[in-house]
Amino acid sequence: MRYDYLIVGSGLYGATFAHLAHKAGKRCLVIDKRPQLGGNLYCEEIEGIHVHKYGAHIFHTSNKEVWDFVNGIVPFNRYTNSPVANFRGELYNLPFNMNTFHQMWGVVTPEQALAKIEEQRAEAKAAMAAAGAAEPRNLEEQALLLVGRDIYEKLVKGYTEKQWGRACTDLPAFIIKRLPVRLVYDNNYFNDKYQGIPEGGYNRLIEGLLEGIETRTDTDFFADRAYWESVADQIVFTGKIDEFYGYRYGKLEYRTVRFEQELLPCPNYQGNAVVNYTDRIVPYTRIIEHKHFESFGQAVYDNPNTVISREYSTEWQEGMEPFYPVNDAKNNALYQQYKALADAEARVHFGGRLAEYKYYDMAPIVEKVLKMNINDIDPE
Ligand SMILES: Cc1cc2nc3c(=O)[nH]c(=O)nc-3n(C[C@H](O)[C@H](O)[C@H](O)COP(=O)(O)OP(=O)(O)OC[C@H]3O[C@@H](n4cnc5c(N)ncnc54)[C@H](O)[C@@H]3O)c2cc1C
Repeated sequence: MRYDYLIVGSGLYGATFAHLAHKAGKRCLVIDKRPQLGGNLYCEEIEGIHVHKYGAHIFHTSNKEVWDFVNGIVPFNRYTNSPVANFRGELYNLPFNMNTFHQMWGVVTPEQALAKIEEQRAEAKAAMAAAGAAEPRNLEEQALLLVGRDIYEKLVKGYTEKQWGRACTDLPAFIIKRLPVRLVYDNNYFNDKYQGIPEGGYNRLIEGLLEGIETRTDTDFFADRAYWESVADQIVFTGKIDEFYGYRYGKLEYRTVRFEQELLPCPNYQGNAVVNYTDRIVPYTRIIEHKHFESFGQAVYDNPNTVISREYSTEWQEGMEPFYPVNDAKNNALYQQYKALADAEARVHFGGRLAEYKYYDMAPIVEKVLKMNINDIDPE
């Protein structure tokens, strides 16, 4: 059978595209080189818990059309992301808000909190002036100007250094443009109107999107490229753009995360889905306890076990999952060379985080595909 579309990659981009094309009456085939569908959204079920195998995923958006679309596939639950920071055993709510300031300084009113922050910002400004610096010269000075010494040292410094594998004094200031402080008692991490996790896990979202569509797993496009190029009129490619062109200009770089997963015979390990470890001594950046994404209150105790993942930020090497595009000047320039080739393709459309070499949250991916004209996908 000849297909209208071969979709390479069953992540959210490929699955959403396939869903809409199928609904529009197109014949679609989705292939993925992984043993399962769903790309980075895939969850493995362990002892009844949906474990986010490629990193914790929380869907959030203010776009009603996107929210209604995904909820039309599977209803989302009421999970609200409210991470906690652990600094050498001291616990602080995130994002920085009145709860954090109360925990840090014992202040009670917004006025008291603001006075404390302003006092420490002024100290940072004075220290820079004394050193003859008009602008922050590195990430440390930038963060000190934004939030002052206490928050920087306990909640920003160690975490950022683990994430980047470098001292904050060696990182450029522009990495942190804003460090918002909220003068209200509100631990909800996202400012978006809607957030949640699909009821029954992300696999249900992917299964719903791909319902009625032919799929093949363990199938690498490059293993038999000529064949796969012959099966369809158009190709939607969501893999790595540099690989598509045989790395002819060189390899794009990524950052990645290593996960250390553990099944524990206890119903509730840390009482929250996300706990950040913000000092430098603990080698991991976060511990994710997966059950808290989908069970709340007393229901947490219905399952006597739990699964946790410790996250370690790691430089990417060949063979590792390419998670975050580096997007520095060198890599962006390289991507532009590949993009010029991609733009000239008559029947291949490149989309998603690997093909566009761009970090996307899930909702913008859905939004982008919803806006596409399925009958005429080639021009961007
Ligand atoms: C660690 C991490 C945490 C994240 N957390 C969040 C979050 O909390 N909230 C949020 O909104 N977003 C989050 N995201 C972003 C989210 O993962 C992306 O928006 C989404 O995965 C993009 O979908 P995609 O289809 O472009 O890519 P992918 O999910 O990467 O899908 C691409 C697919 O293509 C397949 N493929 C590649 N090459 C080939 C080939 N040659 N042949 C066949 N198949 C191939 C891959 O196996 C993969 O399945 C996170 C991302 C990461 C990395």
